[in-house]
Amino acid sequence: MRKYRLIVTDLDGVIWRGGKPLIQNIKALKELMRKGVKVKYLTNNATKSRVEYVEILKNYDLGADINDIITSAYAATYWVKKNNGRFVFIVGEAGLFYEAVANDLIPVSHDMRVDHVIVGLDRHLTYSKIREASRMIQEGAVFVAANIDSTLPVENRLDPGAGSIVEMIAKATGRDPDFIAGKPNKWILDLAIGDTDKDSVLIIGDRLDTDIALGNRAGVDTLLVLTGASKPDDLETTEYMPTYVAKDLYSFIHDYPELFE
Ligand SMILES: [Mg+2]
Repeated sequence: MRKYRLIVTDLDGVIWRGGKPLIQNIKALKELMRKGVKVKYLTNNATKSRVEYVEILKNYDLGADINDIITSAYAATYWVKKNNGRFVFIVGEAGLFYEAVANDLIPVSHDMRVDHVIVGLDRHLTYSKIREASRMIQEGAVFVAANIDSTLPVENRLDPGAGSIVEMIAKATGRDPDFIAGKPNKWILDLAIGDTDKDSVLIIGDRLDTDIALGNRAGVDTLLVLTGASKPDDLETTEYMPTYVAKDLYSFIHDYPELFE
């Protein structure tokens, strides 16, 4: 009997890197889906909405329903809604604004009183956004981080990630975020797996400190694929050991077919 019935996979560094498809991983996911393994996508990237990811995944020949995709933007805004949030100030991009509205929140501009400040990656960041966010938090708004990834891997380099922006606001206010929605917070995994038996779930990712840390905290098996951020050398020093390591998903499923048959 197969061990894994549900795969929760990361996007960046697993499906693509810097917009280039990672063919061996995509081919393997399609093969697993044909065998009846369910696939969900879990990303800390808050810049795009789930709707946008459905469209992007189509370009990689992966069909997905909006409910198959969990982003830290969706998770953060969903948490704010559950926390009785209403008026929010957003430091972030389209993904956060879209998901805020989809979760019945009202993103506002400067000069309004807000109950939550939500911070994600914002590649159009300005000093005035940082100033407003800091002021609102000092006046009592709840400080929510979509994720605290320090970097954003793009094709040949690591750009500053959402965590670097969160850190600026934390420094300015003297306060750490009240809630961090993204990986490795195991709460976000529950949004993806619901009440599925954890023993039948495999998390796939390219980063030890997010994807693998999440699995370890949640008690779910993990596969580190060496197609993205983490390198074999990182395994020597990490505190987050994956259950499995493979150069890519295609070689893994052919080395261990019994896990998915
Ligand atoms: Mg990744």
